[in-house]
Amino acid sequence: MLFDIKPKEDPKDLFDREEELQKLKNGINYPVSLLLGLRRSGKSSLVKVLMKEEDAIWIYLDLRKYETKTFITYKDVIIELEKALNRFPQRIKKLLEGIKGINVAGLEIKLNWGKQKVEISEIFDKLSEISEKEDKKVIIVFDESQELRKLKGYNLLNPLAYAYDNLKIRFLFTGSEIGMVYRFLKIKDPNSPLFGRAMTEITIHPFTKEKAIEFLKKGFEEVKINLDEKLLEDVYNNIGGIPGWLTYYGFNYIQEKDHEEALNKTIELAVSLIKKEFRNFLKGREEAKERYYTIMGVCKKGCRWSESKRAIEAKEGVRIDDKKLTELLQNLIDASFLIKENEIYRPADILIEKAF
Ligand code: ADP
Ligand code: MG
Repeated sequence: MLFDIKPKEDPKDLFDREEELQKLKNGINYPVSLLLGLRRSGKSSLVKVLMKEEDAIWIYLDLRKYETKTFITYKDVIIELEKALNRFPQRIKKLLEGIKGINVAGLEIKLNWGKQKVEISEIFDKLSEISEKEDKKVIIVFDESQELRKLKGYNLLNPLAYAYDNLKIRFLFTGSEIGMVYRFLKIKDPNSPLFGRAMTEITIHPFTKEKAIEFLKKGFEEVKINLDEKLLEDVYNNIGGIPGWLTYYGFNYIQEKDHEEALNKTIELAVSLIKKEFRNFLKGREEAKERYYTIMGVCKKGCRWSESKRAIEAKEGVRIDDKKLTELLQNLIDASFLIKENEIYRPADILIEKAF
């Protein structure tokens, strides 16, 4: 059902996106693919459908839950990995036997993160062996991979670069905070282990107006509701083309049976979620909190660099360093709250605009 608010897993529930799916299918023939797009644009759905359609040994790590944290540790990554490996069939689990720090004795795999800790590169080695033995691709998905840049005390890029250069396993990184994914991978940093490595990049965009209306029509058809095209257009004009919000609207309409109410409920929910996500963004950036809010306030309808500078200076009554301001704006862009087009900064989505 199209208006199911969970990520889609069944190919028949995925609307459109054939092109992106095909690109992903090509991408996983190479070591690393990136799937980038705003929050709720359908990345997890796309990955889950791909996991259904592509016969491979999949290892799916959901890092979304770390968005509220200021940092994560080796232990957190190992716990996620452990969960993912435990989804393997028993026969494949058994093949992981013999790595230091892994216990496959019972039905469940246990990974050590303390004393005698498991080395991620050794897991990668073993998975690569399994890939050859089973003649199947092994694909590791890091969903919302920008969270990995918060990993402290361990450089995940080392085992990733090692795997890239020497092993048979593939990686798929998704990210809603697009600039933050680049900051994590550091492909352009000559001192970084992954420097210069080629990656397939797939960007998933919100639906166009036409597609959004088609999506809503199809979703309503499934539940035998007939909505006037004018109302569907009104939905797009108010909430834009992000599939997640369109899905919420459909879900709310089914409950409310009233366009205005469903629309208001959707906007209310979106605004509160976006505000929460913004507060997560501010974690660890508290010293500049007021400045970030000021910028979002003046840029909600689009603004120039100089306008945001004036707004902050008017508020604080002192000069703000130019470099500092540029850095604040860049952080907002990298976290996908703002986009920059022809020297104008504006919210990445119409509902972000409504949240400030
Ligand atoms: P992301 O991982 O990018 O944040 P999700 O895959 O979780 O996005 O999708 C957000 C919501 O939108 C979910 O309810 C999902 O079911 C719905 N959705 C996203 N893309 C599609 C699509 N192409 N077809 C049907 N539903 C979709
Ligand atoms: Mg997701």
